[in-house]
Amino acid sequence: MRRIGVIALQGDVSEHISAVEAAGGQAVAVRRAGVIPTCSGIVMPGGESTTIGRQLERTGIAAEIKQAAANDVPVLATCAGLVLAAKEIDAGDVRPLGLIDISVGRNAFGPQRESFEAEIDVAGFDRPYRAVFIRAPVVLRCGEGVQEIARFGGRTVAVRQRNLIGLAFHPELTEDLRFHRMLLEMG
Ligand code: GLN
Repeated sequence: MRRIGVIALQGDVSEHISAVEAAGGQAVAVRRAGVIPTCSGIVMPGGESTTIGRQLERTGIAAEIKQAAANDVPVLATCAGLVLAAKEIDAGDVRPLGLIDISVGRNAFGPQRESFEAEIDVAGFDRPYRAVFIRAPVVLRCGEGVQEIARFGGRTVAVRQRNLIGLAFHPELTEDLRFHRMLLEMG
């Protein structure tokens, strides 16, 4: 069984742990350095990217995630996790890990649409996916080697770069396990 480290510093941790287990993986909550090197997959949950980013640095987990991603360990980064996985962020004092060669805009859908659900088409999926957006970021620029896998409203909301998947929405808040299965099937 694949052992998946779910970054458990703040945010949607328990929902991702349940989703990993429902998809057939073994989930481990990661709160300190030393755990990521024992995992064969990583989930970076949504939450507050400023808070999570600071704690990733303070605990030394940031360096371990970078090392793992460089070794082709699969990563599923969602919402605030997508912000932190990016190379560049448009605003705020968050230092991203630079795993995926993208620029991200935070809170991109405006106050009147802070939270909403939408059916989107995802490359490789045979039926639409119902995505939950909560103060969602958007991908503003994709570098070479980054594949856009979903758009909403003409904007990029899901990307893939090798074993790294980045989603602007929250796959852990629906019953649809396709993204967690994708993580478990990679690598
Ligand atoms: N807008 C938040 C941030 O940049 C992310 C929101 C979320 O993860 N639901 O931290």
